[in-house]
This record gives sequence, structure tokens and C-alpha cells, in this order.
Amino acid sequence: MTNRRDFLRTLVGGAAATVSMSCRHTGSDTAQTGETTMDEAIPNASAPSGRMPVLFVGHGSPMNAIEDNRWSRGFTALGATVPRPKAILAISAHWFVRGTWLTGNPSPKTIHDFSGFPRALYEIDYPAPGNVDLAKRVRSLLGDERADLSVDWGLDHGTWSVLRLMYPKADVPVLQLSIDRGLDARAHHDLGRSLRDLRNEGVLIVGSGNVVHNLRDAIGRMQTASPTTPDWAERFDESVQSMLTERDTKSLLAAVPGTEDGRLSHPSPDHWLPLVYAYAATDEHDGVRFPIEGFDLGSLSMRSVLFG
Ligand code: ZN
Repeated sequence: MTNRRDFLRTLVGGAAATVSMSCRHTGSDTAQTGETTMDEAIPNASAPSGRMPVLFVGHGSPMNAIEDNRWSRGFTALGATVPRPKAILAISAHWFVRGTWLTGNPSPKTIHDFSGFPRALYEIDYPAPGNVDLAKRVRSLLGDERADLSVDWGLDHGTWSVLRLMYPKADVPVLQLSIDRGLDARAHHDLGRSLRDLRNEGVLIVGSGNVVHNLRDAIGRMQTASPTTPDWAERFDESVQSMLTERDTKSLLAAVPGTEDGRLSHPSPDHWLPLVYAYAATDEHDGVRFPIEGFDLGSLSMRSVLFG
């Protein structure tokens, strides 16, 4: 197998421009650096109220889907932590388009929406079923005039790179909800709020993005021997942790692009907004935990959040 660092160098040397110009579809990837912490797997959380928790995952590099590293082990541990859902509704950074869409395929395809990665990554299939009735139900919650079903998309790597580790049997139905690039954070929050009832119906809502995601910065750091975490990334990651813990909705919705650290952390909001959806589906009765923390590639926050 290709040495990871050699592979990264190849990626940087041969495709840096492509990667940085098409980061939405290229993922990120690579060398895992910096101080990281990860809780031991929390014992399988029961849902005594019958209400499902809500999860946000920092998915990072597509390579986490096939590598044994602290991030992939963290995703596997999440699968043992979260009560088993009847279905999953994923809001992935990689379906950032015009309009609010729900995957309406009974058998959603596995989308390999990245370039320049090893062949093994393109050979992955994640054959989780869809659930058309649930897609219609979610549409009704969002408002029939605000959302529609699509059979053009499937499961992109923001979703399957994590779920194949959480649920390797691919036996839980999965839907995706797109992120309308034309809406502001408040509008996304309103949409996320309307998903709350799904938690009482056994549906696990999963936002998949990254709390700090500046691919251009990360690629620059990747070329150094020991990528360091810049102050702005550290500050933003910590401030988001505080906003979530304190349920400071106003600051959260204003953070990107309303603050300097937020703009540096998210040149584009695609990897930020999945967190807004996840947060919006929670309320003051939900606890907040951070089962995975730390940075990959210096500035890529891998923080995950479990609400409930
Ligand atoms: Zn991504």
C-alpha cells in the first residue's frame, strides 16, 4: 500500500491546484497530526425517552474510510455508542447545491465525489437502502413547498465514509438532505428545527462536515514536515465548543461568515452548515458531548458532537 506521506506528497505535488479549487468534491486528506484526544467508547447510550440523539461528525479525509487511524476508530466507536436507529438522515457538506432535496431512491448509489485518491477508495460500495416513504415524511416536515425529492443523488463520501465504519453491514436505511447554498444560516437553522420530530421516530440525524475546514490552508500545512495548528483554528474550534455547550444560538449563527476566525475556518460554508442542522434539531434538554476532538493536517478540526 502506498506510504501515506508519499501519497500525500504526490497529491500535493500533482494535484494541489485541482484539490484546492474543487475542495467541495475532493475532501481533504491526509496526514494526521497535532494533539488529539478521543474518549473511549461511551457505553451504548440508551434512549430512555425513546428520543434519538443527534450527531455531528467531522469526516475529514475520505481516506478515513479505509485507514485504521484514530479518526476511523472514533467513527467505529460512535456506532457502538449511539442507540441503533431505524433510519439515518444525513446532511453532508458534499451535497451543497441550489435547493433543498431529499434522496428519494430506494437503493441510493455510492458516490465517489473526490479525485486523486487510491483505487481502493473508488471500489467501496455502501449499499444501505433508502426509504422513500421516510423521504416523503421528511419533506412534509420541511414543508412541501420548501423541499422536494431527488433521484439524481445518492450517498456521497461525507455520509458513507463515516457510516461504513459506524454501520459496516449497511443495514440501516439512509437518506440525504441537501444544503441549499442560497440560504443563510438562520434559514438553515429553521429547516433543521423542523426535523426534530424525527428523533421520536427512531431516526438518527447526522450532520457531516468539519468545525474548521480551510482546505487551502490544510494543503499548505501538509507540505511541511510537522503541520502545526494555527491560532485561528484553535480559537474557532474552542469557541464553537463553548457555543454548543452554552446553547448560544445567536453566536453560532453569526460565526460564519460574521467573524474573522469563522471566515478563515470556512472560506465556503459547506462544511459548517451540517453542524447548524444538527444543532437546530436539539433543544435545551439535550446534553452535549464531544466524543472525538483534535486536528488533522494541522488545521482540519475533527471534532464530533453528540447531542442528547
Ligand atoms: Zn468533506
